Amino acid sequence: MSSPLPDEVDVVVVGAGGAGMTAALAARKRGLETVLLEKSAYFGGSTARSGGGVWIPGNYALSEAGQADAPEESKRYLDAIVGEVVPKVRRDTYVDRGPEVMDFIKSNTPLRFAWVPEYADYHPEQPGGRVLGRSVEPVPMNAKFLGEELDRLHPQYTKAPANLIVTQADFRKISLGLRTLRGPLTMVRVMLTRLISIVLGRRMYAMGNALAIGLRKGLIDADVPVHYETELSDLVIEDGRVVGVRVTHGGTESVVRARRGVILGSGGFERNLELREKYQPQPTSIDWTTGSEFNTGGGVLAGIAAGAATDLLDDAWWGPTIPLPSGPWFCLAERNLPGSIIVNAAGQRFMNEAQPYVEAVHEIYQGEATGVRHVPAWMVIDQRYRNRYLFAGLSPRQPFPGRWYKHGTVKKAATLAELAAEIDVPAEALEETVRRFNAFAASGTDQDFHRGESAYDKYYSDPRVKPNPSLHAIDQAPFYAVKIVPGDLGTKGGLVTDERARVLRPDGSVIPGLYAAGNVSSAVMGHTYAGPGATIGPALTFGYLAAEDLATDQENA
Ligand SMILES: Cc1cc2nc3c(=O)[nH]c(=O)nc-3n(C[C@H](O)[C@H](O)[C@H](O)COP(=O)(O)OP(=O)(O)OC[C@H]3O[C@@H](n4cnc5c(N)ncnc54)[C@H](O)[C@@H]3O)c2cc1C
Repeated sequence: MSSPLPDEVDVVVVGAGGAGMTAALAARKRGLETVLLEKSAYFGGSTARSGGGVWIPGNYALSEAGQADAPEESKRYLDAIVGEVVPKVRRDTYVDRGPEVMDFIKSNTPLRFAWVPEYADYHPEQPGGRVLGRSVEPVPMNAKFLGEELDRLHPQYTKAPANLIVTQADFRKISLGLRTLRGPLTMVRVMLTRLISIVLGRRMYAMGNALAIGLRKGLIDADVPVHYETELSDLVIEDGRVVGVRVTHGGTESVVRARRGVILGSGGFERNLELREKYQPQPTSIDWTTGSEFNTGGGVLAGIAAGAATDLLDDAWWGPTIPLPSGPWFCLAERNLPGSIIVNAAGQRFMNEAQPYVEAVHEIYQGEATGVRHVPAWMVIDQRYRNRYLFAGLSPRQPFPGRWYKHGTVKKAATLAELAAEIDVPAEALEETVRRFNAFAASGTDQDFHRGESAYDKYYSDPRVKPNPSLHAIDQAPFYAVKIVPGDLGTKGGLVTDERARVLRPDGSVIPGLYAAGNVSSAVMGHTYAGPGATIGPALTFGYLAAEDLATDQENA
C-alpha cells in the first residue's frame, strides 16, 4: 500500500525519469519538502531504457580519465552546431554548471561514471568538437540495495542474452564479432563477470538501468516519497502563478499544492500519435520510437494550457530504425559498419549512412519531401557483412529469424536485381548504386557522401577493412535488404525554458512557479545532437538547476 498523496508540499516534481529524479533529489537536498509523482508503475522512464550515456563536458569522470577540456571549447562547439536556435546563455549555462551536477550525483547517490573511450562527439570536425569524445556512462552496479523496489525498474528496451551486463564501451568491441581479438576477449570477460555475479548473488545493472537505479537509491536515502500511478492531468494556476498539480491517482482526481513550485520532468510525446501527426514530419508512427510507452506528452499539454511557449515540436532524437516484429531497433553500429548502404525507392543512396543519427533522419524526411519515397528506406547488405558483425541483436552468421521475413522487415535474394524486385526499386538503379559504392570502397573515398571521413563515422567501423574502415564492397551473395524507418529515442520539442529551467510564455516572460527539464522542455541541443549523452546530460543539469532556482529565488519563498 502506498501512502496517501500529500495535500501540500514545497515542490511537486512530475515524472520519475532522469530529469525528474535529479530535480526531486536536488530540491530535497536543499531542504525543501518534495514529492515525486509518476504516471506509470515504474521509475526510470526512457532514461532507464537508454544507453545511459551522459554528455557533460569537463565532468569528474572525464578529468579522471585525463579527458576534460576547457569549457570554452564546448561552448564554441555548441555555438557552431546549435547556434542561435537556442539562446547562448542557456547553452553556456549547461556547459558551466554540468560538472557540478555530476559532482552532486556522485555525492548523493551510488552512481559513478566512466569515460566511454573514443566515442567521438557527433560533429567532431566542427569548431570545438572533440574526436576523443566527452561522453561518460555509469559504472555497472550491484543493485541489491534496492530490494523489492527493483521490480519497479522501467521495462528494458532490449535485454542482453543471459542477462549479460554490457557497457557501451563493451558493445563497440562485441559488435565486431571475431574481426578483432578484443571482441571475443570482451565477451569472455562479460560472461565471467556474469558467472561471478551469480555465485555472489549480485544483481548487476549497467547503462540506463544503472543510471535510473542510482538516482532512485538517492531518493530513497533522502526520503523523497515517490507516488506511482499518479498522472498529471493539469496545472493549478492562481493569480497567474502555478501553485500545484491536478492528478489522477487510483481512479480519482486530486490536487497536490506546491508552496514553491512545480517541476515538470514528464518526458516527451513520442507515444502520442495525435501530437505526432500534428507537429512532426510525415509519415510518422508511435511504433517506431524506442522511448517509454508512458511518454504521451501530458506535461507538454499541461504547460501549453498554462500559457507556455513551445519550440522544436517538429523535431526528435531521431535515428534510422529497423521495425522488428518484436519492436523497433534503433540502429547504432549496423548502418556504420562497412559493407552496408541505405537506398530510397529509386534504388539510390541519399546520405552518408554513418552520419549521426538525428541528421540521418533529417535526410530521410528531406528526401521524402522531394516526392521520392524514403520511408521506408532499405539497408542493403551481403552475406559477408552478415558473417562478420552483430546485427540488431543477432550474432554474426546467425540467420535472420523467419518472423523477420514474414513481417516484411527483411528480404533476401540471390542477386541484386532480384533483391530490387523484392523491395520494389528499379533493378538497374540498385545495381548501379552498388557498383559505384563498391568502387568507392576500393578507392577508400566515398565521392558522393564522404562516409568514413569524420571521426564519428569511424567509431563503429572495422579497423581491419582498408583503405577506409567504413567502406566495403557489397558483392557476396546472397543479398539482403532490411527495412529502415525514421525512428527516435523520444521527442525533443516542448516547453520553452530559460537558463534557470523556468518555463516561459511566448512573450518571453516567466510563468511563476513552473519549471521544466528533459524532453518535456525544448532541447538545449536545438535541432542537433552534440555527442553520446546529449539528451540525458541536459535532463540532469536542468532538473538540478530548476530545484536550485526554486530553493534560492526569493520570488518562490
Ligand atoms: C533505447 C534508448 C537509448 C538511449 N540512449 C541514450 C543515451 O545513451 N544517452 C542519452 O543522452 N540519451 C539516450 N536516450 C534518450 C534518453 O533516454 C531520453 O532523451 C531521456 O532519458 C529523457 O529523460 P526525461 O527525464 O526527460 O524523460 P524520461 O526518462 O522518459 O522520464 C519521463 C517520466 O515521466 C513520466 N510521465 C510521463 N507523463 C506523465 C504524466 N502525465 N504524469 C506523471 N508522470 C508522467 C514517465 O512515465 C517517465 O517515467 C536513449 C533513449 C532510448 C529509448
